[in-house]
Amino acid sequence: MSRQLRRNGGDGSLADMNTDPSCIFCKIVAGEAPAAIVAEDEVTLAFMDINPLTPGHLLVIPREHHESIATIRGSVLSHMVLIGQWLAAALRASPEIRTEGINLYLADGSAAGQEVPHSHLHLVPRWPGDGFRIRAERTWSPGPGDLEEMAAQIRDAATD
Ligand code: AMP
Ligand code: ZN
Repeated sequence: MSRQLRRNGGDGSLADMNTDPSCIFCKIVAGEAPAAIVAEDEVTLAFMDINPLTPGHLLVIPREHHESIATIRGSVLSHMVLIGQWLAAALRASPEIRTEGINLYLADGSAAGQEVPHSHLHLVPRWPGDGFRIRAERTWSPGPGDLEEMAAQIRDAATD
């Protein structure tokens, strides 16, 4: 369940904002649940993941409640990615947090592993031997022409 709240936009105007009172990330946005905040602006909030995959694991979320990227406005989604890029540089520059590589990860839908139904971008610092694994068992191998056919199917399904 989500509802609309009126809030002050960055330009002083009122803008509609989706929120879900039962959502833990909406509670963090509202200051009703604790979080180690890294950065915040009018559109996004970044905070440390409470159960980190590696030290420095953080999340970038839109302030608005959206379960899926499908309903996030393009300007908000691109802002999330830009904040992710900025904080990735901060992780790499941090002398104490080992960051030789970073996984940017977004699970869209429970079938994709999404557990918190408020869309979020993970930044996971990585280094050789960090113990973090992404296991994927390939269940399908393309035959001749399969990739071209699939490309056409996706192309046909894509909206303008
Ligand atoms: P996902 O599986 O992509 O939905 O990831 C959800 C992430 O949110 C997990 O890595 C959790 O550890 C993290 N998480 C859940 N609750 C909190 C919380 N209250 N504060 C910070 N991170 C959280
Ligand atoms: Zn939410």
